[in-house]
Amino acid sequence: MHSSVYKLQKFIKLEIERGYDNRAVVGGLDKILPAWELEARANQLDEALIQLVLDSLRSYPEGEPAARAELLTHLLNEFSLPASAPHSEPISPSAQSTEQSFGQVAEQAEEPKEEPHYGRAGVYSAPAQRDTVYDAPHEELQGLKASLKVLNGVGPQYLKVLNGVGLNTIEDLLYYFPRRYDDYSQLKPINRLTFGEETTLLGTIQSIVTRPIRSGKLQLTEAVIGDGTGFLRVSWFNQPWLMNKLTPNTQVVLAGKVDQYLGRLTMNSPEVELVEQEHLHTNRIVPVYPLTAQLTQKMIRKMVYQAIHYWASKMPDPLPESVRVAVKLAPLSVAMQNVHFPESQDMLDVARWRLAFDEIFFLQLGVMKLKRNWKTASGQVFDTPQSWVEEQIQRLPFSLTGAQKRVIGEIQADLASGRPMERLIQGDVGSGKTVVAALAAGMIALGGGQSAIMAPTSILAEQHYRSLTRLLTEPGELIAAPFRAEEIRLLIGDTPEAERAQIRAGAADGSVKLVIGTHALFEDPIVFQRLQLVVIDEQHRFGVAQRAALRSKGENPHLLVMTATPIPRSLALTVYGDLDLSVMDEMPAGRQPVSTFVLAPLERERAYHLIEAQVKEGHQAFIIYPLVEQGEKEDPLAAVEEHKRLQNETFRKLSVGLLHGRMKPDEKDEVMRRFRDGEYQILVSTTVVEVGVDIPNASVMLIEGANRFGLAQLHQLRGRVGRGSAQSVCLLIPDHEDALENERLTVMAETNDGFVLAERDLQQRGPGEFLGTRQAGYSELKMANLTDVRLIEKAREQAQILFQNDPDLLAPEHQPLVEKLKSFWEEGKGDIS
Ligand code: ADP
Ligand code: MG
Repeated sequence: MHSSVYKLQKFIKLEIERGYDNRAVVGGLDKILPAWELEARANQLDEALIQLVLDSLRSYPEGEPAARAELLTHLLNEFSLPASAPHSEPISPSAQSTEQSFGQVAEQAEEPKEEPHYGRAGVYSAPAQRDTVYDAPHEELQGLKASLKVLNGVGPQYLKVLNGVGLNTIEDLLYYFPRRYDDYSQLKPINRLTFGEETTLLGTIQSIVTRPIRSGKLQLTEAVIGDGTGFLRVSWFNQPWLMNKLTPNTQVVLAGKVDQYLGRLTMNSPEVELVEQEHLHTNRIVPVYPLTAQLTQKMIRKMVYQAIHYWASKMPDPLPESVRVAVKLAPLSVAMQNVHFPESQDMLDVARWRLAFDEIFFLQLGVMKLKRNWKTASGQVFDTPQSWVEEQIQRLPFSLTGAQKRVIGEIQADLASGRPMERLIQGDVGSGKTVVAALAAGMIALGGGQSAIMAPTSILAEQHYRSLTRLLTEPGELIAAPFRAEEIRLLIGDTPEAERAQIRAGAADGSVKLVIGTHALFEDPIVFQRLQLVVIDEQHRFGVAQRAALRSKGENPHLLVMTATPIPRSLALTVYGDLDLSVMDEMPAGRQPVSTFVLAPLERERAYHLIEAQVKEGHQAFIIYPLVEQGEKEDPLAAVEEHKRLQNETFRKLSVGLLHGRMKPDEKDEVMRRFRDGEYQILVSTTVVEVGVDIPNASVMLIEGANRFGLAQLHQLRGRVGRGSAQSVCLLIPDHEDALENERLTVMAETNDGFVLAERDLQQRGPGEFLGTRQAGYSELKMANLTDVRLIEKAREQAQILFQNDPDLLAPEHQPLVEKLKSFWEEGKGDIS
């Protein structure tokens, strides 16, 4: 419904409620006409309807109540508006689970009882035109890439502020979506106000004063507003200039929350507008934008309003018509308009759905394109004899699980296929992914290629270096190991330059066959003679763009990525759509699930006893803290302070190590070495031990401040124990005894299944946990909710259809889409989480 129709309806409703006393609007109903007429024209309302409204309301004050009633009823009928109150129950925009589509709303509109919509479907696609409230922009329309300085009211100073928050162009502004909405679309007479409600009311300033309070530190402006049904006291802090704007007898619209003071209703710092103005900030569903210093809601709304009115209708719609029709999506201009200034809750939902669809759709197209490029590229053939693979498996100190064997077989086939492998191994913590990667590197070496393995931390890289050296160089009884020890090298941040030079020389002449490292490895100018395999461990820390960058170190090398983060299906489809997936769903034999208990803070001593008992039996323990050091008093327990206390008091006779992210890499390595070698019985640590650390002798994991972690993260931490054959225990102690918050933790005690926990996490905490903070492409997801499987599947389906019909997007009607994809994928590029 158009804003002008909506407002008219509201005023009329209010007038009917008041019994036709012509006081719904201060000064008479006809007072709305000048502003309304402009808005109606801007909305491109039918001219005859506009005239009808003007004529009817101009004569309205003269009539008797009966005549007035007839007149208003007639008007409502002309607009086919039902007389019942509009939107008495606002629909929550995000919490809704039912599918919304553009077409649906139009269909529902045929049943006016349920949908108080302006009935004609066509009305939705009439884009907003120039609004007469604002002057034309200083410069001619320059398209969406025009600088924000073309907007009224944006001078050089303000422009700087805007640029500072990443708003440079009109397009940026249009995509600066509200963070939430306030529904001020209910006008109410003062005598009907109730405490606590958010509302909008119309009234006249009766009196207004400003006085200093708190010994002059604050200025309080107080006004009394009347609307014929009653009076309301309203106050604002530190806005003395309001005195100039709100002089007595001015008609105003107030929007805000009804408060109470000394038993009387009041409003504190409501938004206020003069009644003749466009009710941008009040009197409707109002957008609330994310703010930074120096930007106010009003400023942003004003700018966005201008941008919407000049540009939204002229935005090229990047979605092909076919897609839009198939999914019944609103045109982009309509979605844009309604996401900022919703005509109704339904239209807001329609808008959000459309914009969310775009994001997932663009993401999918990009991911599919990557996959296709990859699949059509040719890869070196490494055709490993089955006998060699079987012999190597025999050499290992343990027998492989069925899942490990299966995945090794998949890799073997990939490497022999002539296409570059691009495979994701997803296996819960402790499922034994490392040995699979080791054998892959062995196959490559056998065929004369080089491999690189990249881990997210130096602790982990070093651990891999050690275990791979052991797995790949120790000779079996009859069978030769794939590598000699000097062919495997470690390159991390603090590898000395002299050693790096050696490694580089070896990589260049082919004598170094496997390099294990951190980011440092790919930031290093190292050049390989024949890099044929890139392995990325704990993949969720790296995005699509990083994967692409890594490949460039070799010529279409094979790629293997490994993650212990179980990714819910909906996410996996989106995030890893470009990879083939192997799932390692089997644990090595003899593993006992970790028993998990949630303890109250008061039960801490029991935890300590248990640790002591385990250490007596020769085991080791981790104690994890959410913080390195305690800053504020209210902060949770922190590693540094607690380490002191535990070593000096609780565990005086034991030796307690300390590990955290602020230590230098070689200090960290030294601590890990000591813990691994049993010099420390207890390791106090932050989450730096989260990823991949493997100490089979550790059997207790105590996590303090457990409520501060996501379930997936707790599961990772818990995975540090239970790696040997001993029964292991994980103890979770939250900060405080807050039943509701801690209830979440009990799921940890109920299941050891990473997938179940991941699903819960996704529901409770959103996808950030899985995606890392910012990955190329994903930073562009502002609207889409990655838990919405239905949305994802719809977008994926459409992307697939489009991709099949026009894989290179060459058709002329797909050119706007090509443009859009370019900017969508470029903007997030280079972000490393
Ligand atoms: P993750 O999948 O979490 O990376 P790792 O590869 O670190 O797991 O393996 C965890 C531990 O299990 C290591 O100590 C490894 O040597 C051991 N391991 C791996 N596969 C097996 C197996 N099939 N049988 C017994 N132990 C295994
Ligand atoms: Mg691992």
